[in-house]
Amino acid sequence: MKGQFRLLLCFAAALSLVTTPACFSGRAMAAEDEHCTTAPENGKILGTSRRIEVGTQGGPAIGFKSYPQSLPLNDHEVVLTFDDGPWPGTTPAILSALAAQCVKATFFLIGRNANAAPALVRREIEEGHTIAHHSFSHPGVTMRGLDEAKAHSDIDKGFAAVDMAAYGKAEKEPRVKFFRYPGFADTPSLNAWLGERNIAIFGTDLWASDWLKMTPDEEEKLLLTRLEKQGRGIILLHDTKQATAAMLPKFLEDLHERGYRIVHVIPGSGSAETVPAPPGWTSETEAILKQRQYLPKPPTEKKPKAAKGSSASHRPARKAVLRLSLRDQDILRRSALF
Ligand SMILES: [Zn+2]
Repeated sequence: MKGQFRLLLCFAAALSLVTTPACFSGRAMAAEDEHCTTAPENGKILGTSRRIEVGTQGGPAIGFKSYPQSLPLNDHEVVLTFDDGPWPGTTPAILSALAAQCVKATFFLIGRNANAAPALVRREIEEGHTIAHHSFSHPGVTMRGLDEAKAHSDIDKGFAAVDMAAYGKAEKEPRVKFFRYPGFADTPSLNAWLGERNIAIFGTDLWASDWLKMTPDEEEKLLLTRLEKQGRGIILLHDTKQATAAMLPKFLEDLHERGYRIVHVIPGSGSAETVPAPPGWTSETEAILKQRQYLPKPPTEKKPKAAKGSSASHRPARKAVLRLSLRDQDILRRSALF
């Protein structure tokens, strides 16, 4: 009888998207899966300790790496987020590792990848994760390198592609109003545009630097060290990275062993509850973006036509094209960072 009541409570919570801690701590998650009902309660696995709604009204910008506010997490609470998927080579292993520990995460999907692997998007939803947005094409020059109309188009196309893959239809606005900029490269005007649409902008609080070449062990140690220093936070990972997929089972075990708790974020109504950054805060991502000069504008002038038979007039033009091409390649390579 007690169990039936809990199931009813959880069902009501699921419908209303209201946080009901009893449903998401230990045995109550469980309406879905007996393994997730008993194991966390017995202390055998990590589980998901609670979920919080993030109100999207006005398009709050969250995450201390980029913004002077973040989610109100308690000490030893973490939110897991994965970018750039779905990716058939690695996302299934990530999902299996999360499922084994009954952990719910948030996936910021690239629309193009969602188009190519809709079954993985549906699996993420079926397994209870939050599906969010990360543009359609993840442009190498970031949104800062696109003109306003192209940036709008890429973001909107991403919303539609993810929703089509996830739900079989796309409305004017995305169903889950969470967005993360490729490379964290926002602009004031795009932030205002998303804000008018009540789309929350996610930065992050810490990352594993999983865009760098590392062994799974090295990556896990680095992430744990950073987490121990900060004690809590939104964590950025990439479900497209082999090393991340390989280190995740051990990382989740270590989180459990060290007393960390998982918080699952879902979209909510009204304004987001946030906490301010400590005094002296500065944007780390802005410093990185400036260092990389992430304001490239593609050349607009046409290549001058060389006179027929004049090989000398061809040479400078070819050099110019080559130089731009290498620069673009470099930007593309660096943009894979986030
Ligand atoms: Zn990305």
